[in-house]
Amino acid sequence: MKTLESLGDVRGKTVLVRSDFNVPLDGDTITDDGRIKAALPTLTRLAEAGAKVLVMAHLGRPKGKPDPKFSLAPVAKRLGELVGQDVVLAEDTVGESAKQVAASLEEGQIALVENVRFDGRETSKDDAERSALAEEYAALADLYVSDGFGVVHRKQASVYDIAQKLPSAAGELVFKEIDSLSKATNNPDRPYVVILGGSKVSDKLGVIKNLLEKADRLLIGGGMAFTFLKAQGYGVGSSLLEEDQVDTVKGYLETAKERGVEIVLPVDVVVAPEFKADAPATVVDADSIPDDQMGLDIGPKSAELYASKIADAKTVVWNGPMGVFEFDAFAGGTKAVAQAMSDGSGYSIVGGGDSAAAVRTLGFDEATFSHISTGGGASLEFLEGKDLPGISILED
Ligand code: ADP
Ligand code: MG
Repeated sequence: MKTLESLGDVRGKTVLVRSDFNVPLDGDTITDDGRIKAALPTLTRLAEAGAKVLVMAHLGRPKGKPDPKFSLAPVAKRLGELVGQDVVLAEDTVGESAKQVAASLEEGQIALVENVRFDGRETSKDDAERSALAEEYAALADLYVSDGFGVVHRKQASVYDIAQKLPSAAGELVFKEIDSLSKATNNPDRPYVVILGGSKVSDKLGVIKNLLEKADRLLIGGGMAFTFLKAQGYGVGSSLLEEDQVDTVKGYLETAKERGVEIVLPVDVVVAPEFKADAPATVVDADSIPDDQMGLDIGPKSAELYASKIADAKTVVWNGPMGVFEFDAFAGGTKAVAQAMSDGSGYSIVGGGDSAAAVRTLGFDEATFSHISTGGGASLEFLEGKDLPGISILED
């Protein structure tokens, strides 16, 4: 991968940086600024070297047009506090305001353009549309730095196409991520344990096929667990369920048995009648979820079981909370997994925006984990051994 050094002297040059500022928001309050902090090494290094730094990023999933709900304004404010200078936010992505902000940047200054997903071409499947947008980005700057690790698995204009238009390099965060994640892909120390949870069930079910060839043990929690429980013939009430994946999951259970990979499923579940912080929570066995209840966390027996399956791991990767940790009543499983990883002596990786946020908001010391990745999908795809377009395009 091309390094920042390969760009030569950046003093006076306008450097377009793609960062990942997709932070969780409560109204316009950032509830976890981990991704902004992770972007600082590259941004401050460029600024200190005298570059004019123009940052691109996305936030949430606006529908290809401006939407104030997804404005980067809270990010610009927080970034400004962290770097100790006012960070100007352009009113648009590549329009008149962005051009004006780019033109008025001074050496060492950092500014932001608005949410790149306010322009539908950013994520277009049509190469020509993305390329046209990338041309417009390129016209704003002299050099491009890719540092949004969380999006490097996406073939998008600000990640992939732009790297073909300007002299490009990978930023510090991208290097650090690849270096840390490689420890789990190049001959991982065993037992190699992977814990999967969260709510992006259909996305994550796909990775299991690949992981069955790599990991020794797979612990399944979060919304994903219910498709497995269903595949075992249990009722799951109104829990998250990918009905059309039940047969695929049966196949995974078969393959795991043949390969000697251990798949660990919840033995009990915390259920509630509705998805609410103060919904009355009860614990039931995994084969006895009432029809009118939904599973919102793994139960205490499962939490203990999972902790024991993590304790002896030499390499452990965790992606996706075990339950709705944002609500106290359903945070127990996620806490137990984080605690076991934090206590263990193996190489521990946390991936996934919400999982990383959970570690911090539940009060764990980040330093007790080997690596907390800023990327969810990107880190999983890397661990699966897939080609990441935003990385390949930066090869030298
Ligand atoms: P990550 O960002 O770590 O990759 P996801 O985005 O896939 O994880 O999922 C995170 C979300 O999953 C959390 O907001 C959490 O509340 C939710 N979640 C976990 N377990 C369940 C469950 N049983 N039912 C519904 N949502 C769940
Ligand atoms: Mg998430």
